[in-house]
Amino acid sequence: MVKHSSRIELSQSSLTKNVNFLLKKVGEGVRISSVVKANAYGHGIKQFVKMAEKAGIDHFATASAFEAEEVLTAKAKSSDVMIMGILYDVDIAWAILNEIEFYVFNYARLPLVLENAKKLGIKAKVHIEVETGANRTGLPQKEFSKTLTFLKKHSDHLVFKGLCTHFGGAESFSNMFKINSQHQRYKNFLKECKQKNIMPEIRHIACSAAALAFKDTVYDMVRIGVAQYGFWPSPDIYYAHLQEIGKQSDGSLRRIFTWKTDVMDVRDVDVGEFIGYGTSYQATQDMKVAVMPLGYSNGYPKAQSNQGHVLIKGKKASIVGLINMNLFMVDVSHIEGVQVGDEVVLVGRQGNNTINISSFTEVTQLLNNEMLSRLPAAIPREIVS
Ligand SMILES: *Cc1c(COP(=O)(O)O)cnc(C)c1O
Repeated sequence: MVKHSSRIELSQSSLTKNVNFLLKKVGEGVRISSVVKANAYGHGIKQFVKMAEKAGIDHFATASAFEAEEVLTAKAKSSDVMIMGILYDVDIAWAILNEIEFYVFNYARLPLVLENAKKLGIKAKVHIEVETGANRTGLPQKEFSKTLTFLKKHSDHLVFKGLCTHFGGAESFSNMFKINSQHQRYKNFLKECKQKNIMPEIRHIACSAAALAFKDTVYDMVRIGVAQYGFWPSPDIYYAHLQEIGKQSDGSLRRIFTWKTDVMDVRDVDVGEFIGYGTSYQATQDMKVAVMPLGYSNGYPKAQSNQGHVLIKGKKASIVGLINMNLFMVDVSHIEGVQVGDEVVLVGRQGNNTINISSFTEVTQLLNNEMLSRLPAAIPREIVS
């Protein structure tokens, strides 16, 4: 097989440290569901599932049936999969057959699930997602009572696996009133379960931010995405953690991946010449420039044009000119002996220097997540120690 234009290395030891830290943080007896939607936030679902299992994870959450299918091909028999988002009617039988847990967020779906479970003679494992104030998916309060009655009546075919909800913005303390109100509404749903004497096997509402900063939102399971990949969900959550442990900084969460490529060509550019498309970069002196074999079509953000850096021989090299579809150029005038084939670090550490994804823009989870999740699935991912 020919080489791809770039590659991603995933550190097993960093992931294991992250998982251990998170397990300790949420406390004994709490299960972590590893959220691997969006190709495991760009890390590569197949490789990541195997790594996570090595670190002790045995539950995976996806946004779609399509992603769950990929988890099935990689996971151990003993691990569970849960679909939090899109599962088409036509795929319900497939999910039940594969013992996949899935969210149900409207009453109308239940008879359909029941019919499929009966036909297959296999119990369907449903998590009832309730509406608490995020107003995306979630079963409304007015449908809850009959939902519980239905689950109770058909418990031969339906397992009430979980009762869950999702916070809309737990990363930011300015949303605290909303998070508190969502949690209160969730408790009301739980109360109704108790009154009707039908309880979910597990309760789960916390994402990374909530699990790290709001202890009372940690029930039987937490759904951890961004934090397991080594990112603090936001500055708010990081500083709250520092306050809790009484330290100035904390390296408990480690980035897992390093994105690499190789120098494709090295060339001299005379003073006054323009580099690449247009006139956005003009050489102010005679320069040495290295050509990178990837561009925005390979997941490298166009916004890095004339802004970002890469690492070559442990030194920072500035991007000169625009990021093209499949190429970009960096200034290596100050780095001795750069040659075709030299290793380039796009994200991660080389020598004493590090390039963080957050350095691409600002330190916000949204941008980290967006950048990560857009990394093309075609880039090969390799597990390293
Ligand atoms: C993405 C997602 C999570 C994980 O969120 P993080 O902030 O990355 O931990 C948890 N629950 C649901 C429903 C999600 O969609």
